[in-house]
Amino acid sequence: MFRAMTDQNTAIRIPLDLLPADGRFGSGPSKVRVESLLALGATGTSYMGTSHRQETVKQMVARARGGLAALLDLPEGYEVLLGNGGATAFWDAAGFRLVRSHSHHAVFGEFSSKFAQAMREAPHIATATTLESAPGTHPALAAVDGADAYALTHNETSTGVWMPVARPTGADADALVLVDATSAAGGMPVDPAEFDVYYLSPQKALASDGGLWLAACSPRALGRIDELGDRWCPASLDLAIARDNSVKDQTYNTPALATIFLLVQQVEWILDQGGLAWASARTRESSGVLYDWADAHELATPFVTDPAIRSPVVVTIDLDERVDATAVSAILRANGVRDTDSYRKLGRNQIRIATFPSVTPDDVRCLTACLDHVVDAIAR
Ligand SMILES: *Cc1c(COP(=O)(O)O)cnc(C)c1O
Repeated sequence: MFRAMTDQNTAIRIPLDLLPADGRFGSGPSKVRVESLLALGATGTSYMGTSHRQETVKQMVARARGGLAALLDLPEGYEVLLGNGGATAFWDAAGFRLVRSHSHHAVFGEFSSKFAQAMREAPHIATATTLESAPGTHPALAAVDGADAYALTHNETSTGVWMPVARPTGADADALVLVDATSAAGGMPVDPAEFDVYYLSPQKALASDGGLWLAACSPRALGRIDELGDRWCPASLDLAIARDNSVKDQTYNTPALATIFLLVQQVEWILDQGGLAWASARTRESSGVLYDWADAHELATPFVTDPAIRSPVVVTIDLDERVDATAVSAILRANGVRDTDSYRKLGRNQIRIATFPSVTPDDVRCLTACLDHVVDAIAR
């Protein structure tokens, strides 16, 4: 480091005994467990740098698909599909092969609004309607005449609000429920009977790296992919091509092998610990520590006022104007405690902390001690 620490804030040292063992609290890319990284390194010459069309990699894809199916307790007939491009690319893919002509979106933050916008702009989708609510809340999604696909976001990573995954009452019998589960999957309970597609990028709750999407699809969703098969679609976004490759434990084009490996490490680790029930209890514990801290501290308040919809995996805390949240995050970062910044576009005096399954509740307790120290030091 050549830059002198002239700013008196970043010169604040947090006592070493308060620091967490692992200082990664980012909401994505999120903490990848060191054990997973070491396991990847230990594969040496046997995995990385080998053909994705051969058994070694195909078996890893099979473990990713099977592991996710076990974690979500998918019923018979469901398939886990995967492809390149992350959840953002999946929105475009869904527009081609899952939305017939009218999608209806629950919009309550940055990520849910992006899918709605993509459908609004897609020339092959006649109608994209939204039901919006202010950041910090979620809309009560209800059936809409003619909607053939409903877009839900299990956890709005930008605001720290979760919404129930449930089929809207009165929706058309063959309407699909498409759930963005990017930051929820693996850290929150879900009932597969309530969704047709539960899709995610693995660099959030599943503690891998970016670039990939995975989607648990119901038989009805798989049927829709066939039904819309005649609509023109770029091959890289074609879910029919993705399905044909996925069921053979492959991808259409080359995936990041490390991402798949790290995902398998995390999914199998969660399954070994006790599955989704264990992971959900752990994220509730970790997030609870932070919400309790914010409730008790006179200069902090949970951003989400309704405790029932506070996310167990992404905690947003507003700070009083006497404490500059940007300075808090900068001081934490200078002390090795990283990525506690609020979502950039939300524009609040806020910190945001991921409590995904890989983050330990003990480290979260250490983080509250660090926060006490830093807030004390800079409050005006
Ligand atoms: C991060 C995130 C996305 C975007 O994921 P990418 O991998 O960057 O495409 C979409 N939805 C939610 C809820 C997210 O948290």
